Amino acid sequence: MAMLPFDDRDGVIWQDGQMVPWREAKVHVLTHGLHYGSCVFEGERVYNGRVFKMTEHHERLHESARVLGFKIPHSVEEINEATMEVLKANGIEEGYVRPVAWRGSEMMGVSAQQNTIHLAIAAWEWPAYFTPEARLKGIRMKTSPWKRPAPDTAPTKSKAAGLYMICTLSKHAAEQEGFNDALMLDYRGRIAEATGANIFLVQDGVIHTPTPDCFLDGITRRTVIALAKEKGYEVVERAIMPEELKKTQEVFLTGTAVEVTPVSEIDDLRFTPGDITKDLLTSYDELVRRPHELTASASASAA
Ligand code: PMP
Repeated sequence: MAMLPFDDRDGVIWQDGQMVPWREAKVHVLTHGLHYGSCVFEGERVYNGRVFKMTEHHERLHESARVLGFKIPHSVEEINEATMEVLKANGIEEGYVRPVAWRGSEMMGVSAQQNTIHLAIAAWEWPAYFTPEARLKGIRMKTSPWKRPAPDTAPTKSKAAGLYMICTLSKHAAEQEGFNDALMLDYRGRIAEATGANIFLVQDGVIHTPTPDCFLDGITRRTVIALAKEKGYEVVERAIMPEELKKTQEVFLTGTAVEVTPVSEIDDLRFTPGDITKDLLTSYDELVRRPHELTASASASAA
């Protein structure tokens, strides 16, 4: 498949307060964020020229940095404005936004107390490729040998670049065996999440999802929980062991990138995306494209 590399495209990227030509948005090889993983990021989706839950994403970016012990030198409002400028400058209506913040180069060792903090915001077009019907076929998942770490082992509340080492390892292992994604258990053996999305199980008409105590409490996860409750479904957040998959009828993932994605297979178990998954998939698609004012109740109850 011909790929357009991410460092060789037309357009502009916002970097440390300025718009720079896409190919010139660079970091030096001696950058703390690269060597020691002092880097946090976000993934946001643009629908009809607007970023869905933009402020929530930028608040989480600030919080991710705080957890890693650094402060982004731009307010949430400034990051919102810069993001809108990036969308405008690149003419993006349907797309993806990637803000990333990292420690710079002043100190090159484990300690990096003096390092300046950098921020870049890139955005690219990302139209919806699959119809809801195609998505309803579901994806195939395989359980990963890698576990989500305990909250006293890694900064699990941060969307930190370093936490994605085990996600890439897990996803590659699953892909090598022909699966689409990996199911990650946590350090206790409980169901945690996918490599870039949260997971939900439907058992006898009730929606269950793991308590996010050692992985990201996704913005989409919270949105879908609020949507489901508004629609009158019962949603239970609790510890879920993988043995329970046997008594589960529907499984779906939620995330900014995957939106609501049905799962058809986990290891040797099969699931048929059913009415609840379909309902939430279409309701979510509808919600993200609704004018802002009308999303107020879902976002308030999701907070
Ligand atoms: N877990 C992981 C590991 C992720 O990378 C993501 C995507 N940011 C999520 C969950 C879902 O989070 P959100 O709904 O905020 O995109």
